Amino acid sequence: MAGIYIHVPFCRSRCVYCDFYSTTLGLDVAQTYVRAVAREMSLRRDYIKDAQIETVYLGGGTPSLLPANSLKELFDAIGRHFSLDEEPEVTIEANPDDVCEQWLQSLKDLPVNRISMGGQTFNDKLLASLGRRHDANQTVEAVEACRKAGFGNISLDLIYGLPGQTMDDWQRDVEKALSLGIKHLSAYALSYEKGTRLDAMLKKGLVEEADEELSRKMYDHLMSATAEAGFQHYEISNFALPSYHSRHNSSYWQGVPYLGLGAGAHSYDGRRCRRANLPDIKAYIAATGDVPHETEELSDEELYNEFILTRLRTSSGIPLLRLSSADRQYCLSMASPHLEHQLLCMKDHHLCLTKEGIFTSNDIISDLMKSEME
Ligand code: SF4
Repeated sequence: MAGIYIHVPFCRSRCVYCDFYSTTLGLDVAQTYVRAVAREMSLRRDYIKDAQIETVYLGGGTPSLLPANSLKELFDAIGRHFSLDEEPEVTIEANPDDVCEQWLQSLKDLPVNRISMGGQTFNDKLLASLGRRHDANQTVEAVEACRKAGFGNISLDLIYGLPGQTMDDWQRDVEKALSLGIKHLSAYALSYEKGTRLDAMLKKGLVEEADEELSRKMYDHLMSATAEAGFQHYEISNFALPSYHSRHNSSYWQGVPYLGLGAGAHSYDGRRCRRANLPDIKAYIAATGDVPHETEELSDEELYNEFILTRLRTSSGIPLLRLSSADRQYCLSMASPHLEHQLLCMKDHHLCLTKEGIFTSNDIISDLMKSEME
């Protein structure tokens, strides 16, 4: 079992909050880039040698900007180099303003069966302030067009805690999202990442961070509204109808190996080695041998910490029996005060966050981790 991630670092313009690697280079570069990705695929196919590919994820950037022939070229290359599972999950990220009948028709000839849409909010004023290129109506129309074209497995992204966003705005966003018949919802608290325009605006006093209490209330509302709509809260930021959990993201959390292709993409060999392609599209395209990258061998502590971090964020929690007895003992001793305060609970040898614990999950996770000094 393995996954493939392809990074498509092209956007028409940059949103103010975004720190993902992407460029605003034109379509001619995008087409050359796709050929470079196919070349990297042929060079690195042994990274996940003999594995069945269960999931493919085209993320970005904005993969929906790629023309139909480039998408076909990518999937032809995947078909040549890898063996896809009988029923793979194949996701493409899309921006609402790119979704049209013609684009959806071009997807019909590819193995794509899941569309992840960046909606972010249904408030037009807030969308404009984030530098998004679409309005709320375009998101609604895009989701409807996807469904009409036969793509029923749709995920929508929302952001809460936006500057100026009220509780009423957020309630309307969640209600609107759930009314669209989506199968999966990812909701993230706005973060002010270093180097983004939004962070610069914060430092200049042009925007204000959302009040902590308001963010908490927003998240609380999100949990109850999604539960009422039959969604399972399977990871801190992810909600899905039964059998619509993202298999690709779940495999990251379960330590499944994946091959990341493209400038800025990350790979994991399923054991100790992580690799990051450098976020430099020109150097990536110009490479003649392997593309510019860095590798990192994880220490025992780092492996333990990653295990704690990824697993505790999921509703199934930390499978304690998968830890060595020394690590299990360490984990349980650090968890003890949180168990006492009912921020953590035990479910069938799994250590899980309680609903109350989710609100302080960052602190709990950091308590359970080992510092490099120990
Ligand atoms: S949020 Fe998406 S569309 Fe906006 S800049 Fe980032 S990758 Fe591009």
